[in-house]
Amino acid sequence: MKDFNYFMPTKIYFGRDCVIKNADVFKQLGKKAVIITGRTSAKNNGSQADVVRALESAQINYFVFDQIEENPSVNTIEKAAAKAVEEKADFVIGIGGGSPMDSAKAVAFLACNPDKPVEFLFEKGQSPHLPVVEIPTTAGTGSEVTQYAILTVPEKKTKMGIAKRTFADAAFLDVKYFESLPVGVTRNTAVDALTHLIEAYLCSENGFLSDVIAERGMEIFKDCKYPLLKGEFDTETREKLLLASTLGGMAIAQSQTSLPHAMGYYLTFFKELPHGAANAQFTKAYMDFVPEQDRVEKILSILGFESTADLDGFLEKLTKRVHFTENEINYYTDEIMKIKGKLATVTKEITRQDMYNMFKDSNK
Ligand code: NAP
Ligand code: FE
Repeated sequence: MKDFNYFMPTKIYFGRDCVIKNADVFKQLGKKAVIITGRTSAKNNGSQADVVRALESAQINYFVFDQIEENPSVNTIEKAAAKAVEEKADFVIGIGGGSPMDSAKAVAFLACNPDKPVEFLFEKGQSPHLPVVEIPTTAGTGSEVTQYAILTVPEKKTKMGIAKRTFADAAFLDVKYFESLPVGVTRNTAVDALTHLIEAYLCSENGFLSDVIAERGMEIFKDCKYPLLKGEFDTETREKLLLASTLGGMAIAQSQTSLPHAMGYYLTFFKELPHGAANAQFTKAYMDFVPEQDRVEKILSILGFESTADLDGFLEKLTKRVHFTENEINYYTDEIMKIKGKLATVTKEITRQDMYNMFKDSNK
């Protein structure tokens, strides 16, 4: 068997009202919290109110930064971190989808290193950071259990993972926050979770434990296929989507995401395609390309698809596809060929022509 390491130190609390029931968790992290969230959803789905109630019961002061946009930019992170420094926050609570959860991690680093510019997030090497708590309200990114944070870097015309890595100290998973999730966001984020499970399983950095986690996540995802197509979600399905998402995060925490994620960032940046949809557009081409076709077969069998075309047809029913021009394909190809770390997630050499073909074959 291949050597592997596995590390995922986040304490997970799963269940109805888990934030309120475990208010003591916040007490161990400091006396003042900054809540990082998006503009509206956390106020509407009850998550922010639960956190405020838990903080008040634990006599912890807090303030709210609720200006996180989708695919957050480094400029927003700078503003949030400046506020956290001004308010002398001891720890950071991210509430929302991947955008606020990733932002919370980035703010935790910047607020602890106030003399550093935002570019420092992209410099290799570890550094001190504030503790982080994550509360997901979308079931997709798994950011509550990953060490990654993805930010939009306008100067580079794409999204990039920050080099600084941290896991949340605690993650609270309460399905009641998902009841308000619109069908479109539910589908896009579920597809993101599925792509984490698939990419973790096919990634060159996989290992026994990430495989076990990914296989179980795909089994759970299979039960959600029909509700996703129908656009109707009962509580049990919502719970399954949440678990599939968290398992997807745990799987990529050992391995990492692969080509569909890296390719998809261009579609999100240039064509504003939601993150999950952007990954979905490239999933078939990627699965057809990797040498581990036995593992591709296993994925299809667990998920109940006959072929990668069958899987692609399912994804196309759930998420939007976009068209890109020849010039765009060439630009994306040249850019991605520079990201050696991502190319290394596939176990064979990828030529420029291979990459070009994968973009070309995924064009709609
Ligand atoms: P998101 O950008 O966080 O949120 C999408 C939309 O959903 C927002 O409009 C948000 O509204 C809304 N929303 C969130 N929860 C809701 C709820 N319960 N009810 C109704 N609306 C709700 O979407 P996401 O797909 O979860 O996150 C995408 C980001 O995560 C991307 O930047 C992606 O690159 C990153 N990502 C990170 C990892 C990782 O490992 N760290 C992995 C994959 C993806 P508000 O703005 O009002 O909150
Ligand atoms: Fe993702």
